[in-house]
Amino acid sequence: MKPVIGLTCDVGVENGLLTLRRQYLDAIIRAGGIPVVLPPTREPGQAETCLEFCQGLLLTGGGDVDPSYWGEPPSPALGYVSPVRDYFEITLTNLALAAGKPILGICRGIQVINVAAGGSLCQDLQTGMNHQQNAPRTQLFHDIFIETTSRLGQIYMTCQAGVNSFHHQAVARLAPGFKVSATSLDGTIEAIEINTAGFVLGVQWHPEDLEDKCSQALFRELVAVAELSGR
Ligand code: MN
Repeated sequence: MKPVIGLTCDVGVENGLLTLRRQYLDAIIRAGGIPVVLPPTREPGQAETCLEFCQGLLLTGGGDVDPSYWGEPPSPALGYVSPVRDYFEITLTNLALAAGKPILGICRGIQVINVAAGGSLCQDLQTGMNHQQNAPRTQLFHDIFIETTSRLGQIYMTCQAGVNSFHHQAVARLAPGFKVSATSLDGTIEAIEINTAGFVLGVQWHPEDLEDKCSQALFRELVAVAELSGR
């Protein structure tokens, strides 16, 4: 059977609507996985149950992470925060890390991985470089510089690539047990990955909106590792 990949999503505070751009689902389907949406909840034991039937986890994009998770007061530039989503995703991530399940984190997802594993975020980038493009999501906006020896480097097979960019937060203090696998010209951390064996990778851009081979290879890697570990 194809591996089941759990995808996180947003939930509207007022109307209770779950939102997830279908590009994420399509990317998992194209890569050979079965996408399953995991709605955020505080119900005890729910994250554990969700992970039991998922062979891999895709942490999707969304609002900002509450800085109380790394002990900082909220900055005036802090954007929309969803307490239930933060709680659910950080719980899920810690469980998946403990179980050695593969995780791909996208945009907010790289931030959730870093915070769950004990790192911190910059609440509002002020580097003089724009990371919030107004161009269409499919448009490449800035370059990243990739550590060629990293897992990301093995997937991308290049030391420099163009990506899109829709974030104003980024990894600040790297979580223990992780390394930086890509940065942009201003030094902003654009990708991190776990130091040990296993597949835990976060990217700050949105590969689900890009159609190049490298972006698709990221999803294929998640699904391939999930398939192997699920056997
Ligand atoms: Mn960026």
